Amino acid sequence: MPQGYNCRVMRALTVDQPGRPPKLSVKEIPVPVPGPEEALVRVEGCGFCHHDMLVMSGTLRRGVAPGVILGHEISGVVEQTGSQVTTLKPGDSVVSILTDACGKCGRCLAGQEHRCRSGVGIGHGRNGGFAEYVALPEFSLVRVSDQLNDSLGMISASLLACPMGVALQAAQSVAQIQPGETVVVTGAGGGLGVHAVQAATSLGARVLAVTSSPEKLGSLAPLGGEEILHTGELDFSEMVLALTEDEGAAVVLDTVGSPLFPSSWRSLAQFGRLVLMGEVAGRPVEINLAEIIFRDARVLGSSGVSRALVQQAAGMVSRGEMDPIVSQTFRLEDAETAFSLLARRQPLGRLVFTPQPGAG
Ligand SMILES: [Zn+2]
Ligand SMILES: [Zn+2]
Repeated sequence: MPQGYNCRVMRALTVDQPGRPPKLSVKEIPVPVPGPEEALVRVEGCGFCHHDMLVMSGTLRRGVAPGVILGHEISGVVEQTGSQVTTLKPGDSVVSILTDACGKCGRCLAGQEHRCRSGVGIGHGRNGGFAEYVALPEFSLVRVSDQLNDSLGMISASLLACPMGVALQAAQSVAQIQPGETVVVTGAGGGLGVHAVQAATSLGARVLAVTSSPEKLGSLAPLGGEEILHTGELDFSEMVLALTEDEGAAVVLDTVGSPLFPSSWRSLAQFGRLVLMGEVAGRPVEINLAEIIFRDARVLGSSGVSRALVQQAAGMVSRGEMDPIVSQTFRLEDAETAFSLLARRQPLGRLVFTPQPGAG
């Protein structure tokens, strides 16, 4: 039997033609064989990230392996381990970080395995979790068996890395939000945004949650959003300034990017930190650099998540400090419906695929 081939087959979601809408189908392909440092994971849940939508629609192409199986928000159960795997065994419940990681380079050893020197994106440069099984490096997997309980099930665990850990990284490690600071979260009703609201709230911030979906107003307040601003076509910075006695916000956690940049920038206080977490349009923005200088502002990027933050997110969920918001689950066969819901920004929180037969 050739390397990487297995006589067992599984169902996997494939992108036959990118577009809006894309042509998607479920095909039977061989179950992957884990390499010596990999584990074969039976996928129980895989979140449908905006990243996946950008690839499906053809907006994001760079670094995408041809024919790759998408999906990087993976939870599942280890079914088989490679000969050199030492920390995982069959039956362990795991979630993956967003990239594969060698576990040996300087960054991996420094706790920055999400920026591994040889790392490629899971569900981007190598196959991801929109399939019944995925083979992943041991070092990209975090064991969560002990954290599963009534508030954290196998499906909601798929959100622990992205978007929950990603939100924690931006709020805690990058923005370094301090108690009492005012924090604006844009795209607050989206999968990343609802968890960014919670992450900022958990750090003691006053959160101004910005959403363009009137139907989501009222759903964000219980998550910690103190003021909910419905932007529509309006410039929300006027409202932020009005709510902060013209000071502006100490931090803007921006999950939307260029379409909201003018408002996000104008919302920022002196010494403010603008943390960019998402870019939905891929377009340049215009700014006079003097404005950054004289505002003593910091413009920061944040993506990915380390294993430590995934573990922190799991602990926070167990203690009731954060809540994974799964909007709806879908079978792989219903991916086109899920795409159209996400494209219309309908869901509050995350859509999650449940690839196992009989789930959904
Ligand atoms: Zn994601
Ligand atoms: Zn590495």
